[in-house]
Amino acid sequence: MKEVPVPSCELLSVGTELLLGQILNTNSQYLSSELAGIGINCFYQTTVGDNKPRIISCMKEALSRADVLLITGGLGPTADDLTTECLAEAFNVPLIFDETVMERIEAFFRTRGYKMPETNRKQALRPEGSDLLPNPRGTAPGTIWVIPPALLRKGGITNPDKERIVMTFPGVPGEMKTMWKETAEPFLVTRFGDNVLWSIELKQYGIGESALAEKFAHLLELENPTVAPYAGRGECRLRVTARAGSIAEAQQLAQPIIDEIKTKSGQLLYGTNDDTLEIVIGRLLTEKKLSLAAAESCTGGLVSKRLTDVAGSSAYVRLNVVTYDNEAKERLLGVRKETLEEHGAVSKECVIEMAEGMRKLANADLALSISGIAGPAGGTEAKPVGLIYIGLATPTGTTTTKLTLPSHISRKEIRYRSASEALNMVRLYLLG
Ligand code: ATP
Ligand code: MG
Repeated sequence: MKEVPVPSCELLSVGTELLLGQILNTNSQYLSSELAGIGINCFYQTTVGDNKPRIISCMKEALSRADVLLITGGLGPTADDLTTECLAEAFNVPLIFDETVMERIEAFFRTRGYKMPETNRKQALRPEGSDLLPNPRGTAPGTIWVIPPALLRKGGITNPDKERIVMTFPGVPGEMKTMWKETAEPFLVTRFGDNVLWSIELKQYGIGESALAEKFAHLLELENPTVAPYAGRGECRLRVTARAGSIAEAQQLAQPIIDEIKTKSGQLLYGTNDDTLEIVIGRLLTEKKLSLAAAESCTGGLVSKRLTDVAGSSAYVRLNVVTYDNEAKERLLGVRKETLEEHGAVSKECVIEMAEGMRKLANADLALSISGIAGPAGGTEAKPVGLIYIGLATPTGTTTTKLTLPSHISRKEIRYRSASEALNMVRLYLLG
């Protein structure tokens, strides 16, 4: 396999409002995931306010480290929009005035029936030697600048012998994304084209992050492909990423690792990439032509919501009810008064009757039931917050699961994890 040079890129977000926490830096999030998708490393992201000396020093630092610098924000017409002039000043080149750009900006205002403010003239300026990065959605175009070694030297950039690329984008996310997709991304792909990144996420349910990391410790040290664990909301994922000259080559490189993870994970592995538990059980139910119903108490309809988030779920979802109150559990599901009196609503006995009653009520093949204490109040020593019972009624009998979730996690989280556990019970049943 040939060695492919891996280009590196940095992001510089300009705007005092970002530093004050007034807006969230979604531009960085977008651009970093896009860069990962085309196999360009991003090792640093910097945010700086609308301040000339600081912007210039950030630009120089970033270019001393990286091959490519993407800058967002500060291209507007006002006095605090400094990006273009900072860029020119960093390399001591003059700003040139682009007549064609000026005409486009004037036309932009004309067609909207406004007189162009004088301040917008500055948006037609860009550093000498740079090219236009067109902005089809707004007035401020960006710049693509391939900076030659002579200028890098003049600007005091470390390792000036290889060219650097700088691109500027307006801060407005919609404009930035269009410019990225239409011009910037194709430009970078062409330039660094013999290097692609391919990755897959292998999703697991029923194992904690540290157990997962321990189980696959030997894989986490690999360099190509790399394997990285992620955890959240009671689930774990392993991301396998391979780098090669083509997608096919990268996939080939990753395959033995994927196979190993699949074999070792068994039924813990529920899907890949965009799969969710609800999507996966939807697929299994459709395949087996089985229907499902759910009677929920503490999850308040979350299982139902998640099931029906999946397009096409009407093929297998029968009827779901939220029986929050004991009286509703009795009347709709036929839970016996004695069961409730003896064991309470949060009990194994109750969820068995709920699931069986639901299965009859919905005339479904399978029925789930959930009852528990989502907190923050309402817990007792015998039945603490986080205690959840789940029932699953099937043609061959009813099974139950008892969950004791940590009581410090939020009500929202307890409900989410209980719903996941219920969905996973259905999945495991369907897998046999
Ligand atoms: P404008 O012509 O609107 O002045 P600009 O290129 O000067 O554009 P900014 O003034 O920095 O960009 O930002 C314009 C708007 O874009 C901000 O008010 C904000 O809503 C949004 N924005 C700026 N930077 C970001 C960012 N990093 N992430 C998300 N949104 C951003
Ligand atoms: Mg601005």
